[in-house]
Amino acid sequence: MTFKTILQTGSGKESSLNKICIRCKVNEINSKSKSYCKPCDAERQRERHSRHGDEINRKQRQRRADDPETVRAVQRAYSNSEKGKEIDRSKKRRKRATIAKNGFEKYTEQEVIKKYGTICHICGFEIDMFASRRVGFGNWENGLHIDHLIAIARGGKDSLDNVRPSHALCNIIKGAKDFESSAQVRR
Ligand SMILES: [Zn+2]
Ligand SMILES: [Zn+2]
Repeated sequence: MTFKTILQTGSGKESSLNKICIRCKVNEINSKSKSYCKPCDAERQRERHSRHGDEINRKQRQRRADDPETVRAVQRAYSNSEKGKEIDRSKKRRKRATIAKNGFEKYTEQEVIKKYGTICHICGFEIDMFASRRVGFGNWENGLHIDHLIAIARGGKDSLDNVRPSHALCNIIKGAKDFESSAQVRR
């Protein structure tokens, strides 16, 4: 799915296919390839695990042990994918907010862009959405960072309301200033 289609369709979900779950016969399914709704599917997994859990775990462990190279390759490919990287970044933000006990509300980078656009809220110039997200690589300074209006270190929540899009460098400079001034307050 491209960035654009996510913005256009919101969640990216297709409209109803008029398929009904063959188990509960109530919930609709939005996937051509599935026969069970999400809750029923999860229930089936749980049943299968409680009956054959030990065997499933043993087989899975065995498969991993037999082919560690593939397991590593899959993990690497995932954490290098854009989706994997974003999940990584949002996990880190949530973790910081949780440690600081500020709380968080789940949001995605797409939602931030959809709500606030692609202008850096700190300097007012356009953000390069194709810049590398890795410090030191291809125009990274002008790439997207999620800036917290009230920094997590100052009690800010990790939520859509408390973030704005910014340039990576603008965000870093602002963060450093913020840290300096809070250090002065402590002195
Ligand atoms: Zn169902
Ligand atoms: Zn900026």
